[in-house]
Amino acid sequence: MKTTKVHIDREECTGCAQCREACPEVFEEGPDDNLSRIVKKYRTDDEGAQGDVPDDLADCARDAADGCPVEIITLD
Ligand code: SF4
Repeated sequence: MKTTKVHIDREECTGCAQCREACPEVFEEGPDDNLSRIVKKYRTDDEGAQGDVPDDLADCARDAADGCPVEIITLD
């Protein structure tokens, strides 16, 4: 299955929740902070800063990235 890599620079996240609202299939609130992370299903690290999402969720993740006010979500 083709995937798209998603990265969140969590140190710069303001916790505004825009990405979680735009794409809850990929982004969630971390339990120990109010910062966003990638959902367990797709994350590729312990912290949730890095993930591989199926291509059918790439548009949703891209919408979230486009809407992030501090532009810290990157896709490749
Ligand atoms: S939209 Fe950006 S700043 Fe807001 S919670 Fe998501 S990653 Fe953090």
